[in-house]
Amino acid sequence: MILVGIGSNLRDLRGRAPREIVPAAVASFGLYSVELRAMSRLWSSAPVLPGGEGGGDGAEKSDKNGAEKGDENGAVHGRYINAVAEVGWEGDAWQLLSTLHRIERDFGRDRSRERGQRPSPRTLDLDLLDFRGEIIDDNRGLTLPHPEILRRGFVLRPLAEIAPGWRHPVSGAGVLESLVALPSGGAAADLHLLDDLG
Ligand code: AMP
Repeated sequence: MILVGIGSNLRDLRGRAPREIVPAAVASFGLYSVELRAMSRLWSSAPVLPGGEGGGDGAEKSDKNGAEKGDENGAVHGRYINAVAEVGWEGDAWQLLSTLHRIERDFGRDRSRERGQRPSPRTLDLDLLDFRGEIIDDNRGLTLPHPEILRRGFVLRPLAEIAPGWRHPVSGAGVLESLVALPSGGAAADLHLLDDLG
């Protein structure tokens, strides 16, 4: 199983909001020979700010479409729209990651707007979460499974929708038990189905 995490919290150069960017990006996968097999619903999450579990004030800084309300220089951390997709891919994991980066660029991700912030606001973030259980950490710019999966409610929750039987390739932890084990008030606390936000 190949799993891709999708996130957006910044309008693109055409003015599209994150809730529009995420479905549009997924709809474009086929153009890049990435076969879409399953797609979660869209979730809204507070940004994880440096040194903290989540931006408690993220809700006030973004509208219900997941777009930041601040100035235009990308300095405001608005809420994220998150989803997880299962995909099919003919090549290897590095080729897929490079294709995901190409899609990010085509959707207007401009790393210069991110101003070196970690984590930074971004128009589109595509993470390779799991590539058929492969374990890779060889300093060539790819770590598999993605090291943050088990700490992120905004990954685990949509992942549970499309792959409830998924297990972490290294620890063997299941997706549902990992979700339940997240600290309350932590990474899963401020996570809502987009449609529930009204
Ligand atoms: P980003 O979160 O998009 O800013 O990614 C930062 C860097 O993480 C990129 O340069 C990727 O090459 C690297 N990276 C390492 N492993 C992964 C992975 N499994 N999925 C996505 N990016 C990865």
